[in-house]
Amino acid sequence: MNLMDIEHRVWSKMALEATAPGLEEKLGKLAPPHAVAGLIAPYFVERFQFKEDCLVIQWSGDNPNSLAGLTLNTPGDLAISLGTSDTVFGITTELKPSLEGHVFPNPVDPECYMVMLVYKNGSLTREDVRNNHAEQSWEVFNKHLENTPPLNGGKIGFYYKEHEIVPPMPVGFHRYVIENLDSNSLEELQEREVEEFDSPAEVRALIEGQFLSMRGHAERFGMPSPPRRIIATGGASSNESILAAIAAIFGCPVYTVQRPDSASLGAALRAAHGWICNREGDFVPISQLYEGKLDRTSLAAKLARPAGEKKLFARYSLLMKMRMQIEKNLVHRLGRTKD
Ligand code: ADP
Repeated sequence: MNLMDIEHRVWSKMALEATAPGLEEKLGKLAPPHAVAGLIAPYFVERFQFKEDCLVIQWSGDNPNSLAGLTLNTPGDLAISLGTSDTVFGITTELKPSLEGHVFPNPVDPECYMVMLVYKNGSLTREDVRNNHAEQSWEVFNKHLENTPPLNGGKIGFYYKEHEIVPPMPVGFHRYVIENLDSNSLEELQEREVEEFDSPAEVRALIEGQFLSMRGHAERFGMPSPPRRIIATGGASSNESILAAIAAIFGCPVYTVQRPDSASLGAALRAAHGWICNREGDFVPISQLYEGKLDRTSLAAKLARPAGEKKLFARYSLLMKMRMQIEKNLVHRLGRTKD
Protein backbone atom coordinates (compact mmCIF):
# COMPACT_ATOMS: atom_id res chain seq x y z
CA MET A 1 0.00 0.00 0.00
CA ASN A 2 3.04 2.27 0.26
CA LEU A 3 2.93 2.39 -3.53
CA MET A 4 -0.46 4.13 -3.46
CA ASP A 5 -1.00 7.75 -4.37
CA ILE A 6 -3.30 8.15 -1.41
CA GLU A 7 -4.80 11.44 -2.54
CA HIS A 8 -6.14 9.96 -5.79
CA ARG A 9 -6.50 6.36 -4.52
CA VAL A 10 -4.58 4.90 -7.47
CA TRP A 11 -1.16 3.29 -7.72
CA SER A 12 1.53 5.92 -7.94
CA LYS A 13 3.13 5.55 -11.38
CA MET A 14 6.39 6.96 -10.11
CA ALA A 15 6.56 4.55 -7.15
CA LEU A 16 5.60 1.57 -9.36
CA GLU A 17 8.28 2.37 -11.89
CA ALA A 18 10.89 2.76 -9.19
CA THR A 19 10.01 -0.69 -7.77
CA ALA A 20 9.77 -3.29 -10.53
CA PRO A 21 8.75 -3.58 -14.20
CA GLY A 22 5.19 -4.70 -14.98
CA LEU A 23 4.12 -4.33 -11.36
CA GLU A 24 0.75 -2.68 -11.98
CA GLU A 25 -0.69 -5.74 -13.75
CA LYS A 26 0.55 -8.06 -11.02
CA LEU A 27 -0.91 -5.94 -8.22
CA GLY A 28 -4.35 -5.61 -9.74
CA LYS A 29 -6.72 -2.73 -9.04
CA LEU A 30 -7.06 -0.88 -5.76
CA ALA A 31 -10.47 -0.94 -4.09
CA PRO A 32 -12.16 1.06 -1.33
CA PRO A 33 -11.83 -0.59 2.12
CA HIS A 34 -15.55 -1.43 2.37
CA ALA A 35 -15.68 -3.04 -1.09
CA VAL A 36 -16.40 -6.72 -1.66
CA ALA A 37 -13.36 -8.65 -2.89
CA GLY A 38 -15.39 -11.70 -3.90
CA LEU A 39 -17.07 -14.80 -2.52
CA ILE A 40 -15.37 -17.11 -0.06
CA ALA A 41 -13.31 -19.93 -1.59
CA PRO A 42 -14.92 -23.43 -1.69
CA TYR A 43 -12.13 -24.72 0.58
CA PHE A 44 -13.52 -22.73 3.54
CA VAL A 45 -17.09 -23.79 2.73
CA GLU A 46 -16.10 -27.47 2.84
CA ARG A 47 -13.58 -27.30 5.63
CA PHE A 48 -15.33 -24.88 8.03
CA GLN A 49 -18.93 -24.84 6.77
CA PHE A 50 -18.98 -21.18 5.76
CA LYS A 51 -22.04 -20.35 3.67
CA GLU A 52 -21.38 -20.39 -0.05
CA ASP A 53 -22.58 -16.81 -0.47
CA CYS A 54 -20.25 -15.49 2.29
CA LEU A 55 -18.70 -12.23 1.07
CA VAL A 56 -15.05 -11.36 1.55
CA ILE A 57 -14.44 -7.69 2.31
CA GLN A 58 -11.12 -5.95 1.60
CA TRP A 59 -8.64 -6.56 4.40
CA SER A 60 -6.48 -4.14 6.35
CA GLY A 61 -3.86 -4.19 9.08
CA ASP A 62 -4.14 -4.04 12.86
CA ASN A 63 -3.87 -0.27 13.24
CA PRO A 64 -6.55 0.69 10.69
CA ASN A 65 -8.78 -2.01 12.20
CA SER A 66 -8.12 -0.58 15.68
CA LEU A 67 -9.35 2.78 14.44
CA ALA A 68 -12.63 1.11 13.46
CA GLY A 69 -12.76 -0.89 16.72
CA LEU A 70 -12.36 2.26 18.82
CA THR A 71 -15.38 3.69 16.91
CA LEU A 72 -13.45 6.58 15.43
CA ASN A 73 -15.63 7.58 12.50
CA THR A 74 -15.67 11.37 12.04
CA PRO A 75 -12.93 13.88 11.11
CA GLY A 76 -11.55 15.25 14.36
CA ASP A 77 -11.84 11.95 16.24
CA LEU A 78 -8.52 11.08 17.87
CA ALA A 79 -7.42 7.98 19.77
CA ILE A 80 -4.45 7.87 22.12
CA SER A 81 -3.23 4.46 23.15
CA LEU A 82 -1.02 4.66 26.22
CA GLY A 83 0.78 1.34 26.23
CA THR A 84 4.41 0.33 26.26
CA SER A 85 4.71 2.61 23.25
CA ASP A 86 2.22 5.43 22.81
CA THR A 87 0.23 5.43 19.60
CA VAL A 88 -1.92 8.27 18.34
CA PHE A 89 -4.35 7.95 15.49
CA GLY A 90 -7.00 10.22 14.16
CA ILE A 91 -9.26 11.05 11.25
CA THR A 92 -8.58 14.11 9.14
CA THR A 93 -9.99 15.59 5.94
CA GLU A 94 -6.69 17.25 5.07
CA LEU A 95 -3.84 15.35 3.47
CA LYS A 96 -0.62 16.58 5.06
CA PRO A 97 1.93 13.76 5.00
CA SER A 98 5.17 14.24 6.86
CA LEU A 99 8.21 12.10 7.62
CA GLU A 100 7.69 11.42 11.32
CA GLY A 101 4.33 9.67 11.02
CA HIS A 102 1.99 7.78 8.70
CA VAL A 103 -1.03 8.75 6.63
CA PHE A 104 -3.40 6.14 5.20
CA PRO A 105 -6.78 6.30 3.53
CA ASN A 106 -9.34 6.15 6.33
CA PRO A 107 -10.45 2.48 6.53
CA VAL A 108 -14.06 3.40 7.33
CA ASP A 109 -14.63 6.37 5.03
CA PRO A 110 -13.00 6.81 1.61
CA GLU A 111 -13.46 10.58 1.77
CA CYS A 112 -10.82 11.19 4.44
CA TYR A 113 -7.53 10.06 5.92
CA MET A 114 -6.15 8.26 8.93
CA VAL A 115 -3.08 9.76 10.60
CA MET A 116 -0.88 7.67 12.87
CA LEU A 117 2.03 8.58 15.13
CA VAL A 118 4.01 6.03 17.11
CA TYR A 119 6.09 7.11 20.10
CA LYS A 120 8.75 4.81 21.44
CA ASN A 121 8.86 6.62 24.79
CA GLY A 122 5.51 5.76 26.33
CA SER A 123 4.78 3.91 29.56
CA LEU A 124 8.34 2.73 30.13
CA THR A 125 9.59 6.30 30.18
CA ARG A 126 6.72 7.32 32.48
CA GLU A 127 7.70 4.43 34.73
CA ASP A 128 11.32 5.57 34.71
CA VAL A 129 10.38 9.06 35.89
CA ARG A 130 7.93 7.56 38.41
CA ASN A 131 10.69 5.34 39.81
CA ASN A 132 13.22 8.15 40.09
CA HIS A 133 10.93 10.98 41.20
CA ALA A 134 7.76 9.48 42.68
CA GLU A 135 8.85 6.68 44.99
CA GLN A 136 7.92 4.06 42.36
CA SER A 137 4.25 4.81 42.99
CA TRP A 138 1.57 6.06 40.57
CA GLU A 139 -0.17 7.55 43.59
CA VAL A 140 2.81 9.78 44.36
CA PHE A 141 3.24 10.47 40.65
CA ASN A 142 -0.38 11.69 40.51
CA LYS A 143 0.06 13.83 43.64
CA HIS A 144 2.98 15.53 41.91
CA LEU A 145 0.75 16.20 38.91
CA GLU A 146 -2.03 17.56 41.09
CA ASN A 147 0.31 19.74 43.15
CA THR A 148 1.87 21.47 40.18
CA PRO A 149 0.05 24.11 38.10
CA PRO A 150 -0.92 23.55 34.45
CA LEU A 151 1.88 24.89 32.20
CA ASN A 152 4.34 23.98 34.98
CA GLY A 153 5.55 27.59 35.33
CA GLY A 154 7.14 27.24 31.89
CA LYS A 155 9.18 24.15 32.73
CA ILE A 156 9.19 21.81 29.77
CA GLY A 157 11.15 18.65 29.08
CA PHE A 158 12.06 16.18 26.35
CA TYR A 159 12.44 12.70 27.82
CA TYR A 160 13.95 10.09 25.54
CA LYS A 161 14.87 7.03 27.53
CA GLU A 162 14.85 5.15 24.22
CA HIS A 163 15.65 6.43 20.74
CA GLU A 164 12.52 8.34 19.79
CA ILE A 165 10.63 8.13 16.49
CA VAL A 166 8.61 11.35 16.88
CA PRO A 167 10.90 13.28 16.62
CA PRO A 168 13.90 11.18 15.53
CA MET A 169 16.03 11.85 18.60
CA PRO A 170 18.72 9.81 20.38
CA VAL A 171 18.52 8.83 24.05
CA GLY A 172 18.73 11.84 26.38
CA PHE A 173 16.74 14.14 28.65
CA HIS A 174 16.57 17.88 27.89
CA ARG A 175 14.97 20.45 30.17
CA TYR A 176 14.09 24.09 29.60
CA VAL A 177 12.42 26.93 31.43
CA ILE A 178 10.35 29.21 29.21
CA GLU A 179 10.49 32.85 30.27
CA ASN A 180 7.68 35.41 29.71
CA LEU A 181 5.05 32.71 29.57
CA ASP A 182 2.34 35.31 30.27
CA SER A 183 3.02 36.95 26.95
CA ASN A 184 0.69 36.25 24.03
CA SER A 185 3.34 36.17 21.37
CA LEU A 186 5.80 33.47 20.45
CA GLU A 187 8.50 36.06 19.72
CA GLU A 188 8.50 37.22 23.32
CA LEU A 189 9.04 33.74 24.75
CA GLN A 190 12.57 32.70 25.53
CA GLU A 191 13.97 29.37 26.58
CA ARG A 192 16.77 28.70 29.05
CA GLU A 193 18.24 25.21 29.29
CA VAL A 194 18.53 23.81 32.83
CA GLU A 195 20.06 20.67 34.34
CA GLU A 196 17.18 19.48 36.49
CA PHE A 197 13.74 20.15 37.97
CA ASP A 198 12.41 19.27 41.38
CA SER A 199 10.45 16.01 41.39
CA PRO A 200 6.91 17.41 41.06
CA ALA A 201 7.97 19.65 38.16
CA GLU A 202 9.80 16.74 36.55
CA VAL A 203 6.64 14.61 36.55
CA ARG A 204 4.51 17.41 35.07
CA ALA A 205 7.19 18.28 32.50
CA LEU A 206 7.19 14.66 31.33
CA ILE A 207 3.40 14.37 31.05
CA GLU A 208 2.83 17.80 29.51
CA GLY A 209 5.76 17.19 27.17
CA GLN A 210 4.40 13.90 25.89
CA PHE A 211 0.93 15.30 25.17
CA LEU A 212 2.11 18.65 23.79
CA SER A 213 4.24 16.66 21.37
CA MET A 214 1.26 14.52 20.36
CA ARG A 215 -0.87 17.61 19.87
CA GLY A 216 1.80 19.47 17.90
CA HIS A 217 2.55 16.58 15.58
CA ALA A 218 -1.10 15.60 15.11
CA GLU A 219 -1.88 19.20 14.10
CA ARG A 220 1.04 19.17 11.71
CA PHE A 221 -0.61 16.16 10.06
CA GLY A 222 -3.83 18.13 9.60
CA MET A 223 -5.79 17.11 12.72
CA PRO A 224 -8.22 19.88 13.70
CA SER A 225 -7.49 21.84 16.85
CA PRO A 226 -9.14 21.13 19.20
CA PRO A 227 -10.09 17.60 18.13
CA ARG A 228 -13.78 16.64 18.28
CA ARG A 229 -13.08 14.09 20.99
CA ILE A 230 -10.29 11.85 22.24
CA ILE A 231 -10.63 8.17 23.03
CA ALA A 232 -7.92 7.04 25.44
CA THR A 233 -6.99 3.42 25.79
CA GLY A 234 -4.08 1.24 26.98
CA GLY A 235 -2.64 0.71 30.47
CA ALA A 236 -2.04 4.35 31.46
CA SER A 237 -5.56 5.43 30.43
CA SER A 238 -6.72 4.18 33.82
CA ASN A 239 -4.82 7.12 35.35
CA GLU A 240 -7.29 9.98 36.03
CA SER A 241 -4.56 12.59 36.49
CA ILE A 242 -3.06 11.79 33.12
CA LEU A 243 -6.54 12.00 31.53
CA ALA A 244 -7.04 15.43 33.13
CA ALA A 245 -3.79 16.63 31.55
CA ILE A 246 -4.92 15.33 28.13
CA ALA A 247 -8.29 17.16 28.38
CA ALA A 248 -6.54 20.41 29.32
CA ILE A 249 -3.83 20.25 26.65
CA PHE A 250 -6.07 19.12 23.77
CA GLY A 251 -9.10 21.17 24.87
CA CYS A 252 -11.61 18.42 24.10
CA PRO A 253 -13.53 15.75 26.01
CA VAL A 254 -11.67 12.54 26.79
CA TYR A 255 -13.42 9.17 26.72
CA THR A 256 -11.94 5.89 27.84
CA VAL A 257 -12.40 2.36 26.63
CA GLN A 258 -10.76 -0.56 28.33
CA ARG A 259 -10.54 -2.88 25.41
CA PRO A 260 -7.46 -4.90 24.61
CA ASP A 261 -8.93 -6.30 21.41
CA SER A 262 -9.88 -3.23 19.38
CA ALA A 263 -8.05 -4.51 16.29
CA SER A 264 -10.04 -7.75 16.02
CA LEU A 265 -13.27 -6.02 17.01
CA GLY A 266 -12.59 -3.41 14.33
CA ALA A 267 -11.99 -6.12 11.74
CA ALA A 268 -15.38 -7.62 12.58
CA LEU A 269 -17.05 -4.19 12.37
CA ARG A 270 -15.40 -3.52 9.03
CA ALA A 271 -16.72 -6.84 7.74
CA ALA A 272 -20.24 -5.85 8.81
CA HIS A 273 -19.73 -2.41 7.29
CA GLY A 274 -18.70 -3.90 3.94
CA TRP A 275 -21.66 -6.26 4.03
CA ILE A 276 -24.14 -3.43 4.64
CA CYS A 277 -22.62 -1.16 1.98
CA ASN A 278 -22.94 -4.08 -0.45
CA ARG A 279 -26.55 -4.72 0.52
CA GLU A 280 -27.47 -1.02 0.13
CA GLY A 281 -25.50 -0.76 -3.10
CA ASP A 282 -23.98 2.44 -1.74
CA PHE A 283 -21.60 3.74 0.92
CA VAL A 284 -23.21 3.82 4.38
CA PRO A 285 -21.40 5.62 7.23
CA ILE A 286 -20.01 3.00 9.63
CA SER A 287 -21.54 4.90 12.57
CA GLN A 288 -24.98 3.73 11.36
CA LEU A 289 -24.02 0.24 12.48
CA TYR A 290 -23.91 1.24 16.10
CA GLU A 291 -25.29 4.75 16.60
CA GLY A 292 -27.40 4.96 19.77
CA LYS A 293 -26.68 1.31 20.57
CA LEU A 294 -23.17 1.53 21.92
CA ASP A 295 -23.94 1.60 25.62
CA ARG A 296 -24.93 -2.00 25.91
CA THR A 297 -22.02 -3.31 23.86
CA SER A 298 -18.30 -3.74 24.25
CA LEU A 299 -17.93 -0.68 22.01
CA ALA A 300 -19.11 1.64 24.78
CA ALA A 301 -16.86 4.57 25.65
CA LYS A 302 -17.10 6.37 28.98
CA LEU A 303 -16.72 10.14 29.33
CA ALA A 304 -13.75 10.42 31.67
CA ARG A 305 -13.04 14.18 31.45
CA PRO A 306 -14.93 17.08 29.89
CA ALA A 307 -12.96 19.47 27.66
CA GLY A 308 -10.45 21.64 29.51
CA GLU A 309 -10.92 25.41 29.79
CA LYS A 310 -10.65 27.40 26.54
CA LYS A 311 -8.27 29.96 28.08
CA LEU A 312 -5.87 27.32 29.30
CA PHE A 313 -6.10 25.53 25.94
CA ALA A 314 -5.00 28.75 24.23
CA ARG A 315 -2.03 29.10 26.57
CA TYR A 316 -1.05 25.52 25.90
CA SER A 317 -1.23 26.35 22.17
CA LEU A 318 1.51 28.93 22.63
CA LEU A 319 3.61 26.61 24.78
CA MET A 320 3.17 23.88 22.16
CA LYS A 321 4.46 26.18 19.41
CA MET A 322 7.45 27.06 21.57
CA ARG A 323 8.07 23.40 22.27
CA MET A 324 7.92 22.51 18.55
CA GLN A 325 10.46 25.24 17.88
CA ILE A 326 12.84 23.93 20.54
CA GLU A 327 12.27 20.39 19.31
CA LYS A 328 13.21 21.45 15.78
CA ASN A 329 16.46 22.92 17.06
CA LEU A 330 17.18 19.80 19.11
CA VAL A 331 16.61 17.58 16.05
CA HIS A 332 18.81 19.86 13.99
CA ARG A 333 21.57 19.68 16.60
CA LEU A 334 21.29 16.04 17.76
CA GLY A 335 18.67 14.34 15.60
CA ARG A 336 19.18 10.93 14.05
CA THR A 337 18.31 12.29 10.60
CA LYS A 338 21.76 13.88 10.57
CA ASP A 339 23.62 10.59 10.30
P1 ADP B 1 1.04 -2.91 26.03
O1 ADP B 1 1.44 -1.86 25.06
O2 ADP B 1 2.21 -3.75 26.43
O3 ADP B 1 -0.20 -3.67 25.67
P2 ADP B 1 -0.61 -1.82 28.17
O4 ADP B 1 -1.58 -1.06 27.33
O5 ADP B 1 -1.08 -3.04 28.87
O6 ADP B 1 0.73 -2.12 27.38
O7 ADP B 1 -0.03 -0.79 29.26
C1 ADP B 1 0.89 -1.20 30.21
C2 ADP B 1 1.48 0.00 30.87
O8 ADP B 1 0.48 0.73 31.54
C3 ADP B 1 2.50 -0.35 31.92
O9 ADP B 1 3.81 -0.30 31.37
C4 ADP B 1 2.31 0.73 32.99
O10 ADP B 1 3.42 1.61 33.01
C5 ADP B 1 1.09 1.51 32.54
N1 ADP B 1 0.18 1.77 33.65
C6 ADP B 1 -0.57 0.89 34.34
N2 ADP B 1 -1.26 1.51 35.34
C7 ADP B 1 -0.93 2.82 35.27
C8 ADP B 1 -1.28 4.00 36.02
N3 ADP B 1 -2.14 3.95 37.04
N4 ADP B 1 -0.74 5.17 35.65
C9 ADP B 1 0.11 5.25 34.60
N5 ADP B 1 0.49 4.18 33.87
C10 ADP B 1 -0.02 2.99 34.19
